[in-house]
Amino acid sequence: MLALIRRKMKFQREADPQWADQISQQPGCDRIWSCIQCGTCSGTCPVSIYMDFTPRRVIALVREGFRADVLSCQTIWLCASCYSCAVHCPQNVHITDLMYSLKREAIRHRMYPARFPIPVLAREFYELVRKRGRNSEIWLVLRMALKSNPFILLNMAKYGLSLLRTGRMSLRMERIQRVEELPKELNGMKEVAS
Ligand code: SF4
Ligand code: SF4
Repeated sequence: MLALIRRKMKFQREADPQWADQISQQPGCDRIWSCIQCGTCSGTCPVSIYMDFTPRRVIALVREGFRADVLSCQTIWLCASCYSCAVHCPQNVHITDLMYSLKREAIRHRMYPARFPIPVLAREFYELVRKRGRNSEIWLVLRMALKSNPFILLNMAKYGLSLLRTGRMSLRMERIQRVEELPKELNGMKEVAS
């Protein structure tokens, strides 16, 4: 279970209404103003019971400018990108895209607990792909664990060894041809990964 994160906003005057406008200009977020707060998204979300804010509530908080609360909540990291909410939403709100935008925003402003593994995973993934053109699962997991919480390797070791033994995972790091042409293509991702 993720560690609890302290929410920062106490008073309405601390809200940032312009932030909602900025978020609504992000890809896939333009329909947040069409949300009628029916709660269908929260009802269909398979992980909403583990979230501190349901998807419906995240949208309400974004629209009211509760920036610190939203960016430091666990919900955006627990979203499994299953798109169930988006498929069932009667207003065609792209909630999954909103979750992606909020994650990018939280990473950009470093609004997550120190050594939190998910942003570390995103950065290490970007670095591997930038340098080699390919991801390597075992090295990605090792780098993520060493930079966040090395103890998680104790739980994963058994499965990792089994995958190595059966050839489902390899220690070999692959590299694509003409990898030097990649960085300019990846510039758009840098903002998220840096
Ligand atoms: S299902 Fe759509 S309209 Fe209903 S609360 Fe969720 S985002 Fe809003
Ligand atoms: S995409 Fe995320 S918020 Fe939407 S239903 Fe799936 S897990 Fe829940």
